[in-house]
Amino acid sequence: MVNKTIIVSNRLPVKIVEHQGEYRLSPSEGGLATGLGSVYKKGDNIWVGWPGIEVPEERQAEVTEKLAELNLIPVFLTADEINLYYEGFSNEVLWPVFHYMVTYANFDQSYRDSYQQVNEKFSHIVASHLQEGDTVWVHDYQLLLLSALIREIQPQVLIGFFQHIPFPSYEIFRLIPWRDELIAGMLGADLLGFHTFDDVRHFLSAASRLPQVKVSDNIVSYKDRQIVVESFPMGIDSDKFEGLIAEPQVREHMRLFRKTMGERKVILTIDRLDYSKGILQRLQAYELLLQTHPELIGHISLYMIVVPSRDTVPRYKELRDQIDQLVGNINSSYRTMSWQPVYYFYRSFTIEFLSALYRTADVCLVTPMRDGMNLVSKEYVASRTEDTGVLILSEMAGASKELNDAIIVNPNNIGEVMRAILQAIQMPETEQIFRMKQMRAVVSKFNIHLWVKNFMEKLEEVKVLQESLRT
Ligand code: UDP
Repeated sequence: MVNKTIIVSNRLPVKIVEHQGEYRLSPSEGGLATGLGSVYKKGDNIWVGWPGIEVPEERQAEVTEKLAELNLIPVFLTADEINLYYEGFSNEVLWPVFHYMVTYANFDQSYRDSYQQVNEKFSHIVASHLQEGDTVWVHDYQLLLLSALIREIQPQVLIGFFQHIPFPSYEIFRLIPWRDELIAGMLGADLLGFHTFDDVRHFLSAASRLPQVKVSDNIVSYKDRQIVVESFPMGIDSDKFEGLIAEPQVREHMRLFRKTMGERKVILTIDRLDYSKGILQRLQAYELLLQTHPELIGHISLYMIVVPSRDTVPRYKELRDQIDQLVGNINSSYRTMSWQPVYYFYRSFTIEFLSALYRTADVCLVTPMRDGMNLVSKEYVASRTEDTGVLILSEMAGASKELNDAIIVNPNNIGEVMRAILQAIQMPETEQIFRMKQMRAVVSKFNIHLWVKNFMEKLEEVKVLQESLRT
């Protein structure tokens, strides 16, 4: 019998659309799906998760069958579960608290109960596929309880867990009424991974408050088990972004974009609509730049893409309205007959179009208030195959720990961000090349494939450690 690996995440790496009564599947091309493709597409390995849409009970067998062809196993969620477990606990409790926006959190008991119940649902489906010697790799904040739940069913199983968002400092984390059960849930794993060393520190500090826990270096002893906690900064599929430049479609987008923007310096920003991304503060910094440096009027433009996300939720809708208003104000105050200060798009684009923007923009401005990693910054770097261009990066993004040749800013400091934009648009080409070369080397080396390899190899090492402790 060959041992297999089971990947588990909230969402399966597939998009399902219903077209004329028929379900159609298209595999996701996101970075994580690509990286983990080398795992779940092999042999008997599988990926367990929610297929992303509500499927009526009588049609679940049909969807299950189609997904099985891609080594994917669905966890079907009801509208209520999506509402309470996903929108509720995951996105209204864990997301804001883990991003230090505690006033946005809604500590609702029904959210917590559904979160527990859905994590149990996942654990039963995983367990039904689990055989002795298998490895499980659980992903992200929607499944913090899952590792312990699987271990209750199968005590000897090897489990890795990776959290894709930040882990906050204990003083923030302790605000969650259910904090201890979350830590206990995570400690069901054998290896816990985070993007940065700070996340690791914060987790260890939070875990050490539990009565049965002892922490020594990066090892947690809990209920006669040893759990290894380490940082694994996630990379991107850098070859793909480098390679896209050669695509005719990308070159055509670049040509049109250059024609539209002329000689102006272009500052690019790309984010999902989210309050953690610092979009308003960034606009304020840009406005301050136009106010204090009128000589730049007509010579720079901010090209801002915001990808729609959850805008039926009041908090997100409010943010969207505020962005609309601020962009409107800046454009109406500073525009001239032949020039526009902000080009704002509230929609998503193809990867070919994004690649053309990454390739052509003089500056990429990435200023989240908090971000686990931030892939946009790495995608910009990977796309700069001529080594020019300047990245401005928030110190609150995990990526800032690796990309230290970016201009690093505190996103709350509007004046500092403004000065960084000025420095970026005036930076001599030799300095741009010097900085970009170093960053490109980092992004290219520590890519998504190395990330997967490092995590899986560490998990194997931990397995040996666990076996030696048992004998
Ligand atoms: N992205 C996309 N379509 C768009 C704009 C962005 O698919 O129109 C992608 C982008 O290429 C990046 C991801 O969305 O891979 C955003 O990842 P990031 O880590 O920066 O932020 P997140 O949204 O995960 O918080």
